[in-house]
Amino acid sequence: MLTAEEVLAAVRVHADRVHDAVRRLGCDPQAAVEVVEQSAKDLVDAAAGSPETVGDPVGWWFARARALARSVAGHDDDLPVGGGVLSADDNQTRLAQALESLPERDRAALLLRDSYDLPAAAVGTSLGLDAVGATTVVGHARLAFLPALLGGTPLVISTHAVDVGALARQSEGGQAAARDATTRRHVQNCDGCGDVVDAQERARRLLSGLTVVALPDAEREALLTRVESRARAVLPAAEPLVELEEWEQEPERRYSLSLMALGLVLAISAGIGGGLLSSRGKGAEPLAAGGRAAAVVTGAPVLSLAPRPGPTGPPTPTTPTTPRVFLITPSPTPTPTPTATVAPATATPPSVTEPLSLEINPSSGPNDTEVTVNGRGWTPGAFVQLAYLERVGGNPGSSAAVQVDSLGRFTTTLTAHDSRGLPGPHSITSGDGTNSATATFNATG
Ligand SMILES: [Zn+2]
Repeated sequence: MLTAEEVLAAVRVHADRVHDAVRRLGCDPQAAVEVVEQSAKDLVDAAAGSPETVGDPVGWWFARARALARSVAGHDDDLPVGGGVLSADDNQTRLAQALESLPERDRAALLLRDSYDLPAAAVGTSLGLDAVGATTVVGHARLAFLPALLGGTPLVISTHAVDVGALARQSEGGQAAARDATTRRHVQNCDGCGDVVDAQERARRLLSGLTVVALPDAEREALLTRVESRARAVLPAAEPLVELEEWEQEPERRYSLSLMALGLVLAISAGIGGGLLSSRGKGAEPLAAGGRAAAVVTGAPVLSLAPRPGPTGPPTPTTPTTPRVFLITPSPTPTPTPTATVAPATATPPSVTEPLSLEINPSSGPNDTEVTVNGRGWTPGAFVQLAYLERVGGNPGSSAAVQVDSLGRFTTTLTAHDSRGLPGPHSITSGDGTNSATATFNATG
């Protein structure tokens, strides 16, 4: 069971991001604060009453807040399209507009993974997917985001079936990328996949520059106090490590260094006061928009995307003292590669004529059975990522990717491989970035 300290640490660290996500769903400032508080209290109650349903608390909180926000969001499109508090910054407006042009789920995936830098598992919990499915959604969304922001045509991969999730992980670097040596080697030798990884990297870097609109200071403190008293009332306290006194002074000691650093940044920006724009401790400037001061925290380092060295244009004249330089320059010449084909310029929504289905045959058998997987009602042209999840741990024991045909159908095979050979029900998950489905294969051992 989660302790009060664990839940409160998550709430403190992510309160401003949840607030930002809620505002971008169209909640006005007052409604957004209410949604943040209510969803945080719901998290506390769920952690106390039915902890088995919580799983990843951060992902759970975002999911709850987004659901609440959708139910109360009015028609305040002030923030979603970059108006209001962000209107002074052309680049923020362009980022917001590009995000707004994507389907809601893609937008959420990009915000959570790239702008807020949540772990893939938390993104998955928030979207109702596992980490693998979430990364696949993020990968496809990045590829759609780039042309929405910079113009040009979407990257289309046609040489072979591509596991966009695996390429997305490569673009993020780190341990997950290093572990997947097979994909890394392939990317080094495949121009098409190399382009996909480059595009993912670029999208992630751009999205990391999104300004996060923080809770107003006064409401933030009062809200955290109320959530804390609720958590202390219903959740167990953490076991003191050495002495209670020391523990109370340093409650963050149990958490990772990065969380501590993040908390520090948030604490610093909260201390600066309302109406400040700060950049990861790099200074601040007053920001008043529409007569309403808003505390703004951004997770972005200084970012310049000029394609060649040297300035490509004068800095924005209206914000000469801005500590952040955020320059988005469209690529002058999108060089076509042999594997890139031109897609229709208009983003037509997928026309699904059949209900979404995922069928497997056979549906039971011994470990390593070759299973035929048929899908209908999927997004035409999209790549479906399939995974056979291990009985223990839920990691993919085997995976496959297949492209959906023009009728929204696909057929492929997947090996029912569990590394421990455990019998019993195993999940087969599938996702194309828009849709997802799960089937159950019963391993007979
Ligand atoms: Zn390739």
